[in-house]
Amino acid sequence: MAIELFNDGNHRCIKFDDLTKEGEIPANQFMIVQDKRGVLLDPGGNKLFSQLSVEISMYAPPQRLEYIFLSHQDPDVGAGLNGWLLMTEAKIVISALWTRFIPNFCTSSFAENRVIAVPDEGMSLDFVGNELKLIPAHFLHSPGNFHLYDPVAKILFTGDLGASIAPPFENITSLEQFQEHIQYMSGFHARYIPHSSACRQWASIARTLDIDMIVPQHGARFSGKEPVKAFIDWIDGLTCALG
Ligand code: FE
Repeated sequence: MAIELFNDGNHRCIKFDDLTKEGEIPANQFMIVQDKRGVLLDPGGNKLFSQLSVEISMYAPPQRLEYIFLSHQDPDVGAGLNGWLLMTEAKIVISALWTRFIPNFCTSSFAENRVIAVPDEGMSLDFVGNELKLIPAHFLHSPGNFHLYDPVAKILFTGDLGASIAPPFENITSLEQFQEHIQYMSGFHARYIPHSSACRQWASIARTLDIDMIVPQHGARFSGKEPVKAFIDWIDGLTCALG
């Protein structure tokens, strides 16, 4: 079932969290919608394509997708790109580090002149007059990694950062829930994130943003100022794979 993360009557953010099939890594996909135009975030692999395209068409025609944002290069993020390139005219947005890998996900000619290479320092994307901000999150876990901040919804989409495995909650709304939730996040972050210095760098950027919700690509999200702050503090103090 699609979950509405934000709706002010004009601008909406939607989370799809039940489309991955048995045997696949459970993942969330996201859509930002305004004026019947859309941005798709981390749409996932081939097996998700047909169902996700049906789901998003309830909000905006797939032909009106402007961007497909890939937080990093993993297959559960963008392996289904071929179908999206065929069905839409959307631009693919991904770290400049990974643009040369795009042809591995699709027929090369489909991607010609349709890839926006995000420089290491990040950039803004104009979406129907709003500036979606691509926030550097390198080595969290990929060396070329971006988070997307939607300043209208005040949502930071964090890709794999904050990923949790089979958590009992979909939405963490209190400090008590956050403490309970740490056990579902810690294994992934201890192994996949290479070093705490990347975490501290990210936390210092995240603290400058006005965030109401942090939404990872796997598992539960964090809603409200206190859980958001608790999450940033937790990331700031993490010890990772190499220290
Ligand atoms: Fe990943």
